[in-house]
Amino acid sequence: MDFFTRFPFVWLILMALPWPSRCSGAPEPNLQQDPFDTARGEMVSEQITARGIKDPNVLKAMRQVPRHLFVPVGEQRHAYEDRPLSIGYGQTISQPYIVALMTELARPKPTDRALEVGTGSGYQAAVLSRLVARLFTIELLKPLADDAARRLRELGLLNVVVRNGDGYPGWPEEAPFDIILVTAAPDHVPPPLIAQLKPGGRMVIPVGHVLEAQELLLIEKDASGKTRTEHVIPVRFVPLRRGDEE
Ligand code: SAH
Repeated sequence: MDFFTRFPFVWLILMALPWPSRCSGAPEPNLQQDPFDTARGEMVSEQITARGIKDPNVLKAMRQVPRHLFVPVGEQRHAYEDRPLSIGYGQTISQPYIVALMTELARPKPTDRALEVGTGSGYQAAVLSRLVARLFTIELLKPLADDAARRLRELGLLNVVVRNGDGYPGWPEEAPFDIILVTAAPDHVPPPLIAQLKPGGRMVIPVGHVLEAQELLLIEKDASGKTRTEHVIPVRFVPLRRGDEE
């Protein structure tokens, strides 16, 4: 007697398994399985869940976004390691844990409008874009802005708008924002960004004069417009440059 004849209930269990979600007909961005799928799963469990990130939506976005497509081809095999990587022009893509932490601290909601300063590779933008309604992101260096815009478009992440320019003054035409993420470190919190944060909004920003002494800050604006600042952890980001330093 073969296995399935002896154990017919196994068939029933197999038949009861749900169809993969991609058969359900809902239009999903092009975030499918790829050769790095296992490495990405391990990145989430070993670097992110293990360090206390809990928001299931953040974990899902980190699990879905193909980080290897945001680094130079020669660096792809390192894309899921526990560290930042060079993306050229002296800039870096942040360590996966820092991307997850900043995203969780921002407490994204599906109706939120978000601003990112420092698009870089577009990876942080890709992760956050899965969790908000719209994301506006500004990158000082034109080649990086152009590459990031192309990647995000190719992945079908169509709720992100990339602009080339200085992010210090924010994006007044699209303000106010529920979330502002800054992924390059200024030596003070730019006042225009505080002004463009909605009451109830959250800003996550690394601040510090020198590389060795930056702090990640969570700044929340209450309904009356008052801000409250929490120091989260020491970090190391590339400096926020001003347009006239190029
Ligand atoms: N979020 C990025 C990593 C950011 S690295 C990612 O996920 O890959 C910091 C980026 O900020 C760099 O690309 C740098 O060119 C950019 N940057 C520095 N000063 C800036 C400014 N004033 N306005 C906008 N972008 C700036």
